Amino acid sequence: MNFVVTAGPTREHLDPVRFLSNPSTGKMGFAVAAEAAKRGHDVTLVAGPVTLKTPMGVARVDVVSARDMLAAVKDALCKSGAEPTVVVSTAAVADWRPAKCATKKLKKHQMSGTLKLVRNPDILKTVTGCLKVGFAAETDNVLAEASRKCREKGLSFIVANDVTEKGSGFGTDTNRVTFVYPDGTLRRHPLMTKRRVAGAILDSISELASD
Ligand code: C5P
Repeated sequence: MNFVVTAGPTREHLDPVRFLSNPSTGKMGFAVAAEAAKRGHDVTLVAGPVTLKTPMGVARVDVVSARDMLAAVKDALCKSGAEPTVVVSTAAVADWRPAKCATKKLKKHQMSGTLKLVRNPDILKTVTGCLKVGFAAETDNVLAEASRKCREKGLSFIVANDVTEKGSGFGTDTNRVTFVYPDGTLRRHPLMTKRRVAGAILDSISELASD
């Protein structure tokens, strides 16, 4: 199969030296890409600004903003040919960006203290015609929020995790996740390394693809 995996944060610049972002390190997405390549799949990894090494056998495209990420995902899907394609979206995409990005560094006196924001496209919702797996990093009502996002974005399943829990979330090497399916089925997993979580995601995708 062809895999397109998104990973890391996006940066939404207001000038060349200032941006809105989040603490995502890309570890989960890089683990999914590495595991998929190890299992013999063709993998394109669309990565926001992170400091990780490209896993062996993976084609990497580096991007900065959510709009760059959407363009790179669409491009990878166009090139993916006739084989079934799976999009695994682990990226922590910024939901909003500054309405304007200055071409030169803004001077303090040019900034008013109020920043006008506009919505970014939802990458996962926008792409169609492939099997889609998303992530829901939540702090409360974890399973209810994950279930809503799974249905709203047309996903095959969503990987829910509580980022306030010890050993889960941004920058850790482990995660405790529950897979939430559109029909309400839950698959709970114990605390595992992100590489093992990646393996469980790949197992579930293989099951769905062979149905
Ligand atoms: O931000 P939210 O919690 O809605 O994200 C859930 C899923 O949607 C994640 O898989 C994330 O990568 C994806 N997403 C996206 N484009 C966005 C926001 C989120 O693809 N603009």
